[in-house]
Amino acid sequence: MSKDKNQDLKQEKRKKSNKRDKSKVEHNHWADQIASEVKKRVEEDPKLKKAVKETGYYLIYDEKTPSGIIHVGSGRGWVIHDVVAKAMRKIGINAKFVLSSDDIDPYDKPNKELDESWNKYLGMPFRNIPSPVEGYENFAEYYFMLCVEKFEELGIEAEIESTGEQYEKGVFNKAIKTILDNHKKVQDVYKEMYGDDVEAGKKIPFNVICENCGKIATTLSTDWDPKTEMISYECRKDVVEWASGCDHKGKISPYNGNGKFPWKVEWPAKWISKGVVCEYAGKDHFTKGGSRSFGVKLCHELFDFPPPYPSTRFMTGKGYEFFQIGGKKMSTSKGRGVSFVEMTKILPANLIRFLLIKPRPNAVIDFDPYDDNNITFLYDRYDKAERIYFDIDKADEKEKKIQSRIYELSYVGEIPNKIPTQIPLKFAAIVIQIAMNNEEKAIEILQNMKHLPEKLEGAERHSVLQRLNDAKRWINKFASDNNKFQLNEKINASELKFDHKVKKALQLVVKRLEEKTWQDKELHDEFYKICEKLELENKEFFKGAYILLIGKEKGPLLAKFVLAVGLDKFRDLVKQL
Ligand SMILES: [Zn+2]
Repeated sequence: MSKDKNQDLKQEKRKKSNKRDKSKVEHNHWADQIASEVKKRVEEDPKLKKAVKETGYYLIYDEKTPSGIIHVGSGRGWVIHDVVAKAMRKIGINAKFVLSSDDIDPYDKPNKELDESWNKYLGMPFRNIPSPVEGYENFAEYYFMLCVEKFEELGIEAEIESTGEQYEKGVFNKAIKTILDNHKKVQDVYKEMYGDDVEAGKKIPFNVICENCGKIATTLSTDWDPKTEMISYECRKDVVEWASGCDHKGKISPYNGNGKFPWKVEWPAKWISKGVVCEYAGKDHFTKGGSRSFGVKLCHELFDFPPPYPSTRFMTGKGYEFFQIGGKKMSTSKGRGVSFVEMTKILPANLIRFLLIKPRPNAVIDFDPYDDNNITFLYDRYDKAERIYFDIDKADEKEKKIQSRIYELSYVGEIPNKIPTQIPLKFAAIVIQIAMNNEEKAIEILQNMKHLPEKLEGAERHSVLQRLNDAKRWINKFASDNNKFQLNEKINASELKFDHKVKKALQLVVKRLEEKTWQDKELHDEFYKICEKLELENKEFFKGAYILLIGKEKGPLLAKFVLAVGLDKFRDLVKQL
């Protein structure tokens, strides 16, 4: 390690510890911390400053190979990049989030959704393979669009790009020339990182698309002539095991889409060519010897250019942690994790964003909708953040700042002026079940309970309907039996053999309900008074009430439940005893 490098390292560490101290004082959300750090870095680094000046914006970049259904884990990166871009715009920076489809990558393993007839395309770039579904230009576009068309719903503001098109437009031509002219240096980096025997340490780091058979994975570059700027290649049978070349030999310009870099080289080539200032990726890329550390090294040694945040010139940094939905139950039922698109069938956009925005990128997120606590806590925490944002719930300064910011960043669209009426998910689930899945009936019940105003319109109505629908989805698809019930229509009194005291107690409840309008807490106390008066064990009373209502010994909190069921219905059941 040179002396300079040592000093740089020390300086970086010092900056890092400064940052830690500062963030303690500022209580900023992580997206805002990243935004100000990226801003500072660009201002302090003349090369980055120049790059940003040339493009006119701070580029936050992400990329994905559209090889098939895209896993939910990638969605984490998209939301991270989206909120960092939003945080940068908030401090007056012209930030742009670009998501590129790596559609010039080769089709390298059979897509499980497709039959064997698709295997003939193995080795070809995705963008040159037909779409499996009509209406899309090619294979890559189809799978990419499946995700991207959900962006608006999810509030992700991204510009979509095609990496293949970028190659065609010549965006990477300059980097191609530098890398091919210096390919020995690139090979040395490979050897330094992976040992002298590594295959890539012997290859010219460029893959031409065979002019004869159209495959890209099967070609081997054999010579680069820096004077004529032509690259010689052979399309061979032994380059990869999963695709066979056609034996064609050719010579072609490497520019304007005639080929691409291997991934490890392509990543830093993109950073430099496009001026990327921030790009996260999954933590598996950031391992020792992983593609990120290779990119960081190449970026420095060949281009003397700093890699994007969270990497620095000499430190790889950390990628974001895993994001899974469904725990064991979901991943095993389909043999794979949940796709990004399926996620929108589990949670509404605001809750998906909240789930991803609340924890720092380096925290694992494993959300299981089949776990009743998991899903109800998520909704409750979201509601809590909303109440803090609207000053309904008190919080200390730090909590107020963080929770409000999380809410702001999670909310898709414009935040209303006043807090929408909140209906906790669990309560919404009770009401929608009493209403037998009918939202209008559920709204009526909530209005009778004075939980909603008589007049419910516009955004207010919309948010209530949204929560009722979420509750319906939860009950019908994910909730455990503990949270499900069916309200009795008729009961068989002789079969149930109610104790006369229980019967009497329930009749008293009817009487009390007829007397006045009750609040749930007050009614709850009244139940105990009734039991005391009749010398009835509370346990027996509650058990009897649940059996009467839903034929189970346990159920939702009784007072609120009885109020939601309503006097008429309750009286009708008690009369049948
Ligand atoms: Zn060929």
